[in-house]
Amino acid sequence: MKFATKVIHAGIEPDASSGAIMTPIFQTSTYVQESPGVHKGFEYARTQNPTRDVLQKQLAALENGNFGVCFSSGLAAADAIAKLFNQGDHIISCNDLYGGTYRIFTKVFGKFGLDFSFVDMTNISNIENAITPKTKLIWIETPTNPMLNIVDIASVCVLAKQHNILVCVDNTFASPYLQTPLDLGADIVVHSATKYLGGHSDVIHGAVIVKDKAIADQLYFIQNACGAVPGPQDCFLILRGIKTLHIRVQRACENAEKIADFLKAHPKVAKVNYPGFEEHHGHQIAKQQMKLFGAMISFSLKEDNVSAANKVLSATKLFSLAESLGGVESLIGHPATMTHASIPLEERQKTGVVDSLIRLSIGIEDADDLIDDLRNALG
Ligand SMILES: *Cc1c(COP(=O)(O)O)cnc(C)c1O
Repeated sequence: MKFATKVIHAGIEPDASSGAIMTPIFQTSTYVQESPGVHKGFEYARTQNPTRDVLQKQLAALENGNFGVCFSSGLAAADAIAKLFNQGDHIISCNDLYGGTYRIFTKVFGKFGLDFSFVDMTNISNIENAITPKTKLIWIETPTNPMLNIVDIASVCVLAKQHNILVCVDNTFASPYLQTPLDLGADIVVHSATKYLGGHSDVIHGAVIVKDKAIADQLYFIQNACGAVPGPQDCFLILRGIKTLHIRVQRACENAEKIADFLKAHPKVAKVNYPGFEEHHGHQIAKQQMKLFGAMISFSLKEDNVSAANKVLSATKLFSLAESLGGVESLIGHPATMTHASIPLEERQKTGVVDSLIRLSIGIEDADDLIDDLRNALG
């Protein structure tokens, strides 16, 4: 089945009891049993929910995996993955990781004895040098946030296999329409479904997708044992969002390409980070592992300070000043004070998140209107 067919049909059957073509929202906490232990496969809604089951199957199909496991947020999904490991285990991740993931790793799991290294993954030898006998997982984010660096997923997976290390890819920025890490050798894919999968900025949700049954069983155990499950209405909203994923992401990527070109030519702009540019250091890898170059752009100003950035951030009319990304509407943000405020100043500046850096999540509005909005704000 091709992607555009999968988003409509994979894992989705008409409801058995009514024939409803759209998956019903099973808003229930428990299920009636005929006699003790005799039931229809549903006992208690933390453990199983029919709406969630359909979404889990759908997500597994989109990522070319075998099992989907849904959580109440992207960070709850990251939390569940970290819980696969034991005290003393070592995890290698990128140095420009999503701020919330960095926070849960260092502030929560550090306390429980997991060890982390954060390296520049655009150079594989940095990963190789960080591997210790205790390394159990390599956690990749690509494209990265907010610098839009590209990590070579297939090459990292080859290295990881040699050392018997699992690879997890946070595929939030690309979405399965652009990139399917399991096909490149990754073991685990994680999503903040809050972003492109939901696509309408109206729900918080997370998901993990794997091929391996043993890992899936551990994740289902953690899902039930720790209880960070999404509600059925949230699952419904993600199912509904996914139906247009390919069309939304396609349009957003086309808009992003035009906007990146506009910014590059603007006299007040210092540098535009966009993997679609031929001179971007990850361009060739992005071309190999992604269908298009994504709809996230970041750029710095020649006048590199917070107040210059603030002028632009408060002057746009179509781009709304907000955290998050991946919705139908365009957003503008300031990583240094918003999404990446939880990363220490020194770490932040080392990775290029300078004071004037502005991040754009390009939506599906008319590209010319978006460009006019940025032109006015920069002027
Ligand atoms: C938003 C985001 C997360 C966290 O997801 P939530 O749904 O907000 O908990 C993780 N990774 C990336 C890349 C994100 O953009």
